[in-house]
Amino acid sequence: VAAGCLSANSEAVKKRLEEAVKASGLENQVQVSGVGCMRLCCQGSLVHVATQNEPESLGTLYQKVTPEDAPAIIAALNGEQTKVQQGDLTHPFFTKQLPIVLENSGKVNPDRIESYIAAGGYQALYHVLREMTPAEVVDAITRSGLRGRGGAGYPTGVKWATVAKAKGERKFVICNADEGDPGAFMDRSVLESDPHRVLEGMAIAAYAVGATQGYIYVRAEYPIAISRLQTAIRQAQRLGLLGSQIFESPFDFKIDIRIGAGAYVCGEETALMASIEGKRGTPHPRPPYPAESGLWGYPTLINNVETFANISPIIRKGAEWFASIGTEKSKGTKVFALAGKICNTGLIEVPMGTPLRLIVEELGGGVPDDGKAKAVQTGGPSGGCIPASAFDTSVDYESLTALGSMMGSGGMIVMDQSTNMVDVAKFFMEFCMDESCGKCIPCRVGTVQLYRLLTKIREGKASLTDLELLEELCDMVKNTSLCGLGQSAPNPVFSTLRYFRDEYLALINTSQ
Ligand code: SF4
Repeated sequence: VAAGCLSANSEAVKKRLEEAVKASGLENQVQVSGVGCMRLCCQGSLVHVATQNEPESLGTLYQKVTPEDAPAIIAALNGEQTKVQQGDLTHPFFTKQLPIVLENSGKVNPDRIESYIAAGGYQALYHVLREMTPAEVVDAITRSGLRGRGGAGYPTGVKWATVAKAKGERKFVICNADEGDPGAFMDRSVLESDPHRVLEGMAIAAYAVGATQGYIYVRAEYPIAISRLQTAIRQAQRLGLLGSQIFESPFDFKIDIRIGAGAYVCGEETALMASIEGKRGTPHPRPPYPAESGLWGYPTLINNVETFANISPIIRKGAEWFASIGTEKSKGTKVFALAGKICNTGLIEVPMGTPLRLIVEELGGGVPDDGKAKAVQTGGPSGGCIPASAFDTSVDYESLTALGSMMGSGGMIVMDQSTNMVDVAKFFMEFCMDESCGKCIPCRVGTVQLYRLLTKIREGKASLTDLELLEELCDMVKNTSLCGLGQSAPNPVFSTLRYFRDEYLALINTSQ
């Protein structure tokens, strides 16, 4: 019952399954439960039939289920043959993932706090409030090696320590849920599937840094995530897991939701805070950094959804356990949204350091109709295109940066041989041009000029001088823009020029 399956009519499937259970007299043996995202979006609606506590890899997965299939699925419980399409839970898409952030996705009912608690939810918060000092919590997060999953990969423990040390009458914790990269839907899915997990991570962070108020800044385009968060906050308050004297300790922490109006730039932390303060959501120069002077001038911790979703497992299973996963500098796992020309579109979570080839060819199942992958765009409009020749690279912060791309928040768009790479650069530049807030000239004017130059090249009207101008202008926009949006807007041009320069040259009009 997350957005992908809901768009494939999963609510009606659930209703018909409940009716079929009733009609078969199986109410005492079979429970129909709506769960969060089961990750294989391209095959929705998905129905997993399993005995209680059966591992995720067992049971039967039905895919592309329609409401009319419901009676046959229930009849199959009594051994009847069914023609409803079955999925393969032993496919690498499932077996080669390592769900930590998504460990509850597809298992717990996101509308029921009892379901989260039964899966071990809020144990980590209980543990830190009873057994750990704030400094010990910061130390555990530091030792885990967790880095911010919003894109830049800043060490989470260092950020928490800075906010913990900062002096202020009040402190705030903000969850950045303003996911806006084209092709990215990781955070939306976590919020829709397991909202309590994010609340618990925020509460632990607030205890560690000394904050009493939290905000979740989520875009208005995510109505299901917003409604699930509202329900989750209400339920947690009712059980004394948010609000005053949590778990009967002296710790108070409240969370409110702030709904963004869809400006991409509001994912930038200074713009996001301005928006929460009720001002126009535009960035301002740093320093001061939010850790010292953030919301209304008070020390503020900002992390994104996936970062907070990693906190409770780190506390429950230990910093050393988390640090043992991944590479030397990139610990843990990363959630990616697989999209584009790939068979298995959906969400995956793999250990840092997993080769890109394994993600595209095994988990993703490669390009449909035996096509060949040409490149993968990671990091959204701020990232870059990685050519197929570099698919053996391991996916971690450093390797992707070395290739001229970046981890970003986790969007991964696969392109096949039919894709023109100048079109790709033009698409992302148009996105940045539209989303530029207009505060500084290099980005406001530069992105427009870059878009015009790319259009001229694509139409075969540009000369070699225009190509030189494109590169010069990219350097200028990158080096002189105020915030990350402008500074990284030229990245898709840089990376496509680096790996696919021949496609630009093929379009140059040599008669000029
Ligand atoms: Fe606004 Fe672009 Fe300047 Fe950022 S770089 S402040 S988005 S105009």
